[in-house]
Amino acid sequence: MRLRILGRMSDRRQPRAAAIYCRISRDARGDALGVQRQQDLCQDLADRKGWPVAEVYTDNDVSAYSGKRRPEYERLLADLESGARDGVLVVDTDRLTRTPAELERFIDVADRCGVALANVSGDLDLSSSDGRFRARIMGAVARQESEKKSERLRREREQAAQQGRSHGGRRPFGYEPGGVDLRHDEALVVRELAERFLAGESLPALAKDLNERGVPTVYGGAWRTTSVRTLLASARIAGLRTHKGEITGEACWPAIITREQHERIRGALGDPRRQQRGRPPARLLTSMVVCGRCGATLASSQRRGRERRYVCHPTVGSGACGRIGVHADYLEAEVTDQVLAVLASPALADMVSTDDRDDGAGEELRAAEERLAELARDFAEGRIGRAEWLAARDVAERRVETARRSVERDTSRSVLASVPTDVDALHRRWEDAGLDWRRAVLGAVVDRVEVHPAQRGGRAGFDPERVRIVWRA
Ligand SMILES: [Zn+2]
Repeated sequence: MRLRILGRMSDRRQPRAAAIYCRISRDARGDALGVQRQQDLCQDLADRKGWPVAEVYTDNDVSAYSGKRRPEYERLLADLESGARDGVLVVDTDRLTRTPAELERFIDVADRCGVALANVSGDLDLSSSDGRFRARIMGAVARQESEKKSERLRREREQAAQQGRSHGGRRPFGYEPGGVDLRHDEALVVRELAERFLAGESLPALAKDLNERGVPTVYGGAWRTTSVRTLLASARIAGLRTHKGEITGEACWPAIITREQHERIRGALGDPRRQQRGRPPARLLTSMVVCGRCGATLASSQRRGRERRYVCHPTVGSGACGRIGVHADYLEAEVTDQVLAVLASPALADMVSTDDRDDGAGEELRAAEERLAELARDFAEGRIGRAEWLAARDVAERRVETARRSVERDTSRSVLASVPTDVDALHRRWEDAGLDWRRAVLGAVVDRVEVHPAQRGGRAGFDPERVRIVWRA
């Protein structure tokens, strides 16, 4: 029933009982207007136009184009059809209708029932073909924008998943939440840590320094050796993406340290000898004792009022079993006895006197390390591809390893040359010597000390049968 006369369409009818319709959509960008804000804007508009507002209809948390039902919108349409409401105020027409089909349905209702529509960004008279045309265009534009937006949100989500940062974890140190933008003060700390570590400072010393300076972790707590290690070892700070521990390519976030620094840090962290650098080894067998069950390096540990022990210490991700522990004093005495016996044997004199020392070993090591760094640079700057880099890196790493062993052999020989050959003199020297000399001598002949599980029904207390010394060839 068309009661309106064409000529009246331009002089907007005054509704008797208008409705304000608000819809809040969950918008990841956070630019959605809150319901209260929408209501205020519509009320202002109603006041200006002199429309009496009879009721506010609000659909909450319903996203555009999701196809979800909007109970309040349905109720509004019913009220418009029954004639209980004859005007609608919205902030934007895309609050009202989400699809062209919805728009057509609204136009149909508005047309049939003589509903006036006002939106804050400009009135639309749906009773005129011009107005309907404008509404359709605006609807189409809004729809396109919304599709673009959902497309963008989907892309962002996919990207986040690829980057492994959508798992609700904490933000990475050095980066803002989301992990893409730098947090500059922290980035400077990361760079400083990398440089100091590569210059030889130990992880515990760095952690201590951060705590003394009051630099918080992302958890707000204190730094530990492991947290500094994890930070420095991460490929993320070199702008690299990883998947299951393998570097998979360039990341979309900026690097804080260079790829070369990253390679060198990884090299240093993987080398137990260099891990200790800068920190005086506290105990005779520090870093030499390994767990006979899982192969982890045993740590010296002492609880208050208890004897000192070397223990398999299970830290997160280390794979250590945590099931081996041994009395430190007894173990050290046992190893010392065995080592002194070996040192006093004639075989050692032969070994020391064999002078096939290779003076080029240090040079070879430096060259191999430089080659490794060069490869990382080539990869970083795109001169070689990933597969090429990985293959060349394997070769270069083996070369570094060989050169390092050669340097270590030379070092061992010169240490052993300082060991007295006379048994009594050897024991006196051992008693008088400091920890550094003892450790150097041990390191020259002992590759590692394995501590195996206690035998069931074995001796009470320390059992030397559990100790196996692996000698250097
Ligand atoms: Zn273990």
